Amino acid sequence: MAKILVFNNDTDRMETYYRGESEAMPYNANRTLTVGEFRGSSGSPTLWTTKRAMQSFNTTRYLFGAPIPVGFAFKRPWEGGHGSQSQHYAGVAFDAGQVLSNTQRNRLRNTAISSGVWSYVEPASLTPTWVHFDKRFGRPACGTAGYPLIRQGSISTYVLIAQDDLNTLGFTTGGLDRNIWI
Ligand SMILES: [Zn+2]
Repeated sequence: MAKILVFNNDTDRMETYYRGESEAMPYNANRTLTVGEFRGSSGSPTLWTTKRAMQSFNTTRYLFGAPIPVGFAFKRPWEGGHGSQSQHYAGVAFDAGQVLSNTQRNRLRNTAISSGVWSYVEPASLTPTWVHFDKRFGRPACGTAGYPLIRQGSISTYVLIAQDDLNTLGFTTGGLDRNIWI
């Protein structure tokens, strides 16, 4: 049973769900994204995402017209698998299509691009054997990319990422389920 925190972009509130690994993610339509698929190899007891990310996955699945095999979506930065320049935004990014043929993978990438619902789709030159698309929000803290600036009172999935990283480094943040990082 995973605890799933979902930032609701419509209400600006964090919602809490408890779901089994084979159950659908919150706001997922037609059970095309299970908790287990979203989790991938992450060992985190708490997962997080946003309502918009789930809705964007629904739209992409609808437009693609076929199941989207997800390699992993959720992964905390320190859980590895990505380098120091990673663009994989924990909780709102997907790595998908690893098991598809090249033709189908390109079709998935083009579907993600033309859908217009993703903030960023990684070019094939950087992810030739999978498709990365993500739903960022907020303005990056540095000019080109990166996490947005967060401060006291911020409510977002990025607060959870920061809390998780700080916990890992031995700092106390009062848990992962607080909306406000102080
Ligand atoms: Zn990625």
